[in-house]
Amino acid sequence: MATPDPRVIASPERVAPSTGRAAKRASQVHARLLHTVRRWFDTSAMVERDEAQQDRIDWLRAAPFVAMHLACLGVLWVGVSPIALLVAAALYAVRMFALTGFYHRYFSHKTFRTSRVVQFAFAVIGAACVQRGPLWWAAHHRHHHRHADTALDPHSPGVHGFAWSHVGWFLTPRHFRTDLARVPDLAKYPELRWLDRYDIAVPVVLAAATYALGALLQQVAPQLHTSGGQLLVWGFFVSTVVLFHATVTINSLAHRYGRRRFATKDDSRNNLWLALLTFGEGWHNNHHYFPGSARQGFRWWEIDLTWYGLKLMAWLGLVHDLKPVPAWVRAKAGR
Ligand SMILES: [Zn+2]
Ligand SMILES: [Zn+2]
Repeated sequence: MATPDPRVIASPERVAPSTGRAAKRASQVHARLLHTVRRWFDTSAMVERDEAQQDRIDWLRAAPFVAMHLACLGVLWVGVSPIALLVAAALYAVRMFALTGFYHRYFSHKTFRTSRVVQFAFAVIGAACVQRGPLWWAAHHRHHHRHADTALDPHSPGVHGFAWSHVGWFLTPRHFRTDLARVPDLAKYPELRWLDRYDIAVPVVLAAATYALGALLQQVAPQLHTSGGQLLVWGFFVSTVVLFHATVTINSLAHRYGRRRFATKDDSRNNLWLALLTFGEGWHNNHHYFPGSARQGFRWWEIDLTWYGLKLMAWLGLVHDLKPVPAWVRAKAGR
């Protein structure tokens, strides 16, 4: 009989305590890691926090948001081409319209009607903006209108400061949840609840699609001088980050800089530059005065690209019952 190898058969009582502790630690780290990854992909996976931590930025949960900004530095490696800029601009435009026309004017304010199919289609395009799902977005936005520029407003630059209103508030545990009580009219649709829970799936697919398109064009149209990495960085990361900061100027800048046509209780402003950048949302003082209209530019010269897009969709039969600016509001808006 061969002598047993001491490396294989060790005395159990000599190794068990340390091995047991190490194994327990490893499994705890593993479980924590898994849970963190799960929280990135499944918004129902929560960590209980005490009240003191509710308003502090959860950096682990926010890591993908930070990484998305860092990924823009990829332009230094992938270079640029006209097609990359075109894809970035097109994805900005389509997604901005989905945000302003649907996340904001439809889901949050119900200023027109549409079919369940169109509703879901634009909810999906809206989710591609990496600004969470339609229920989360609408629930927080309705809360903003109810408490605009008070302590209860999650993103008032007057109360919480510019940086917090622009980029801080939504990274905290308090504002991570979707309060379904604020959006019962939307939460009745199971497909919207599903999308709200797994919203991150849409941008992941979009990122993969931009890479695939670039890789394909590199093969079939080398004269375009693009690549998978180039379209991923410009078409997804740069476009999404610019889209994000443009959108949240309405929370930060449009409550600070511009004209106040109406003496609303909040600090909302009308700002042409922000209106151009956000397809009409910069007429924010108009909007706070009368949020029930599908149109936010109240005068003919107040450029409102979202309104023109919605009119086109109505003409095509995709949406209907666009709520106009009432005559009494138009009269108050003057000439
Ligand atoms: Zn506002
Ligand atoms: Zn609004």
